[in-house]
Amino acid sequence: MLELTNDQRTLLATLRRFCKERLEPRVRVFEAGAEPLEPFYRELAQALGLAEVASAIVDGSPSPLEGMPPLLLTSFIMHELSRCAPGVALSFGATTGLFGGAVVACGTDEQRRTWGKRALSLELVGAWALTEPGAGSDAFGAMQTRARSVDGGFVLNGSKTYITNAPTCDVALVQARIEGAGDGRIAGFIVPSEARGFTRGRPFHKFGMQSSPTGELFLEEVFVPHELVLGGVGADGMPQDARLAIKASLGAERLGMIPMLLAMVERCLEECTSYAKTRVQFGAPIASYQLVQEKLARIYATKVMLETLFLRQTEAVGGGRLDAITRAEASAQKLWAAQATVDAAMEAMQVLGGAGYMSGSVVEMMVRDAKLFQIGGGTDDMQVLTIARDLLKGRA
Ligand SMILES: Cc1cc2nc3c(=O)[nH]c(=O)nc-3n(C[C@H](O)[C@H](O)[C@H](O)COP(=O)(O)OP(=O)(O)OC[C@H]3O[C@@H](n4cnc5c(N)ncnc54)[C@H](O)[C@@H]3O)c2cc1C
Repeated sequence: MLELTNDQRTLLATLRRFCKERLEPRVRVFEAGAEPLEPFYRELAQALGLAEVASAIVDGSPSPLEGMPPLLLTSFIMHELSRCAPGVALSFGATTGLFGGAVVACGTDEQRRTWGKRALSLELVGAWALTEPGAGSDAFGAMQTRARSVDGGFVLNGSKTYITNAPTCDVALVQARIEGAGDGRIAGFIVPSEARGFTRGRPFHKFGMQSSPTGELFLEEVFVPHELVLGGVGADGMPQDARLAIKASLGAERLGMIPMLLAMVERCLEECTSYAKTRVQFGAPIASYQLVQEKLARIYATKVMLETLFLRQTEAVGGGRLDAITRAEASAQKLWAAQATVDAAMEAMQVLGGAGYMSGSVVEMMVRDAKLFQIGGGTDDMQVLTIARDLLKGRA
């Protein structure tokens, strides 16, 4: 069982209060794209002292977290943000987890200090760009974005799509294939938004996750110096192949989805339980009908199972043994949890009837947002293929 110190509990209470007071009232505004998310992120960073946390991670300065692993704090933040607005959590995760996490894990010291630290402390908005118009599930095999070696760096050409934070990012980690390397090598390039030839598309209109801007990135003869090749280059001027690092990022993203899904189911259960107790039909609260009770019980069962998965993660992270969760297991967790959350959110909407179907209802937002988890970070089908492959190779 995860034991938290009093200081850690206080930190989590601050986080919940902050989200309730500063995020909950603004969710509709963010969903409409009527206000940027950045001022909110600055407030969040200030409230939680994320600058000190980032320094502790990157510079090794004393951690303000009283022994709590930073990854655990990130999970708790993803959880609390998702109780109010999963889209805000998605964007937060793209900056701190996908972009920041990759730079901190694989970057040079200078890259970690300059870009990683600022992403972890939410000083900048980051994007992590793998998917392309012709390269979704087959992200490596079909990748068309190319990096050409030139004096002092690389020149990038291509485009990326469905990228979280693309419309607002200050910097993107763009994955591109190295031309002429002969081995299909892929590398990550840190591209600041002001780089010449780099264009950010407008936010897409989409089904869910509306508080998270998603869009395209275009690269036309963008020069990226060697210092901004993730992890730097060797004596031959070439970077290491990044495929394993990209897979690690996707694995971390999958695990990061569990606290989000738990939060969404918790919130659906709270909403439909309180509604069922007060909504009167046929002279009695609908909660008195066993058909409604069954729905509440099933949503509760999903919540309990997600809590168990989250606890398994927190123990692995707390014990410094995230590798205790294999790739097959991370895929299995995501596969099951995404479907279970979609089902739970739909059941919650059913309990609310018309009130749940109306725009503006929390449950309606959760139904829309839940679907993303069956597509993003690798579709359900890709999780099935990964599980089966690892299972048959004895790696599950
Ligand atoms: C809101 C949102 C945010 C996103 N954020 C990011 C981001 O920040 N960075 C990023 O790089 N990407 C991001 N993505 C992209 C996401 O990772 C891709 O959408 C996903 O990998 C699927 O690719 P695709 O959409 O091109 O679908 P496709 O790969 O075209 O798949 C279409 C369908 O075919 C199925 N399919 C494909 N191949 C097979 C096969 N071999 N066997 C069986 N079925 C198959 C798929 O499972 C799916 O059902 C985001 C997507 C969304 C919707």
